[in-house]
Amino acid sequence: MKVGFIGLGAMGLPMAKRVLGGGHDLFTMFHHNRAPADELASLGARVMACAAEVASESDAVITILPADAEVREVVLGPAGLVEGFTSGKVLIEMTTATPRMIQDIERMLAEKGVGLLDAPVSGGTTAAAAGSLTIMVGGDPALLNEMRPLLETMGKTILHVGPVGLGKVVKLVNQTLAAIHLLAIGEVFALGIRSGADPRTLYEVVRASSGYSKMMDLRLPGFLLEGAFQPGFRLELMKKDLNLALDSAQMLGIPLLFGSLAAQVFTAASRAGRGAEDFAAAADFLSRLAGAELRSPAVGQA
Ligand code: NAD
Repeated sequence: MKVGFIGLGAMGLPMAKRVLGGGHDLFTMFHHNRAPADELASLGARVMACAAEVASESDAVITILPADAEVREVVLGPAGLVEGFTSGKVLIEMTTATPRMIQDIERMLAEKGVGLLDAPVSGGTTAAAAGSLTIMVGGDPALLNEMRPLLETMGKTILHVGPVGLGKVVKLVNQTLAAIHLLAIGEVFALGIRSGADPRTLYEVVRASSGYSKMMDLRLPGFLLEGAFQPGFRLELMKKDLNLALDSAQMLGIPLLFGSLAAQVFTAASRAGRGAEDFAAAADFLSRLAGAELRSPAVGQA
């Protein structure tokens, strides 16, 4: 298949390599940093001048961009995808963004007979490189079946979750839970540490008890227990995801109490200069408010 790929960041570049590795023809474009597109070109991809050219060359175009504004720009902006799309082509939009934005785009593309899958991902950069992402797909099930072999070059678990918009919703639910679990670990481990407990012992015990969450396995070893915060998933992006969840709650007129608090902690950690670090840094920021670090052996100041 002729596949377009736009958004060659921490996730997009390894995902695009998987698509190429799956035997598809790949069309991409430069954005600011030329290196990722050059790397793909050296593997056989063609680098086009703009998104419209990517769309006119491809049967299906994949986008994975920071958030709403970038998706709107790439799809609807000057020389955007919409200018190159014709009836029967498909957009697979994988950004973590708002349901409202993707539904607007669905309406505009439908007028041109262009199909859309709303397909955000979970699993981070390691799963992106391994082709083992979880992909949650909103859209027409028949179109998903058609695109499944392409999605399988990037993901292992591919789940249909409802119409366009629901992919983004399910992803935001996951992100908000992940952030809340992470901050809970930071805050409550600090209590144990300030009382004299060792963080590795706390992890070992809670892992076999009812306070456990998978976030412990994902962000204690390699991050909090080592005091290491190389991303991974940037704190700034998780802050963005929490604000998108708040936006959706506001649209519905419903409260999101813990989610709001989590967004505030991520904003404070970002203001404290930690936005480019892994999102585990938000738990470190929180535990330090209690005078404790989760680095093992425990570092607890008075
Ligand atoms: P990133 O900032 O590393 O990459 C974004 C890419 O988009 C950059 O290469 C940038 O140049 C490109 N871009 C921005 N505007 C563009 C434009 N107008 N035209 C063309 N390209 C443009 O971000 P990432 O970590 O790859 O995340 C991408 C999306 O995936 C985000 O929505 C994020 O929340 C989500 N996500 C990230 C992870 C992770 O672990 N990093 C995991 C799951 C989901």
